[in-house]
Amino acid sequence: MSVLALAGGVGGARLAAGLARALPPGDLAVAVNTGDDFEHLGLSISPDIDTVVYTLAGLNNPELGWGLASETWAFMAALERLGGETWFRLGDRDLATHVERTRRLAAGETLSAITADFAARLDIAQRIVPMSDDPVRTIVETDEGALAFQDYFVRRQCAPVFRGLRFDGADGARPSAGFAEALADPALEAIVICPSNPLLSLGPILAVPEVRAALAARRVPCIAVSPFIGGQAVKGPAGKIMAELGRDATPAGLLALYDGLVDGLVIDGADAGARADVPLHVTDTLMRGPDDQTRLAREALAFAAGLAR
Ligand code: GDP
Ligand code: CA
Repeated sequence: MSVLALAGGVGGARLAAGLARALPPGDLAVAVNTGDDFEHLGLSISPDIDTVVYTLAGLNNPELGWGLASETWAFMAALERLGGETWFRLGDRDLATHVERTRRLAAGETLSAITADFAARLDIAQRIVPMSDDPVRTIVETDEGALAFQDYFVRRQCAPVFRGLRFDGADGARPSAGFAEALADPALEAIVICPSNPLLSLGPILAVPEVRAALAARRVPCIAVSPFIGGQAVKGPAGKIMAELGRDATPAGLLALYDGLVDGLVIDGADAGARADVPLHVTDTLMRGPDDQTRLAREALAFAAGLAR
């Protein structure tokens, strides 16, 4: 079953890892949010791509939820001693990813090419494609003014009240070649929207005009797996942000955001009984580890296969 998954960071990477185990390697492409990307300390950082790559490689740090396992922090400590900026933590091993990506971008390579090469070198057989090779930058409008995404998310720990959101550059951005190819692949059988933050992680992907148009014109089922359990996000600020924007962290609230793009929704047993105008698959959606990831991925694929388009 040939599948295209749309993912942000942690929640997306967890389901993507399950899909990777449930499908033959050639049958999965994962398109990843780049709205969180930014330049920091002279480095080009792509947090969601790195989370997906590290997770599919089995190298992710399960305690932190970002970065690499068995990380050390000598660089950060040395930087702090010199009075450098330390609000965004970069581990010693992780740093190599950013240094090498920055070098290759400056040499003219695309983010797509660099990501594909890093994935291959880390023995990942699946395709991981940035949503776009054009810069898209998420800007959060708050009660304290407009903040670049990482300023809001990391430096300010999501404290300012959310007023709105914009994705600078999205209007003129094209999907990456690999993403466009996956969307148009005649062998494609299903699209899976991973349980990522619908506003911050899926929002930028869906804001790329050709992506939204391709999803609207899809000939295969598109299903979403909800990141909400019992009206709350499993992790992170998705619930808080939904509330600040006057939206519900419920199946109906999620479907309203994905309006018309979703043919079926996988929700948690805690939300059974929710009203929705698409077919629902109710199951345990909390991914505690690899077994849960694989089980949820298999259930999502079987659910999608049963939905005609
Ligand atoms: P980020 O870019 O690292 O913030 O990650 P994502 O946007 O991909 O993921 C954040 C979302 O993942 C949150 O809204 C969580 O509710 C959701 N999430 C994390 N772990 C799980 C899980 O095990 N199950 C489900 N259903 N959602 C999860
Ligand atoms: Ca992210």
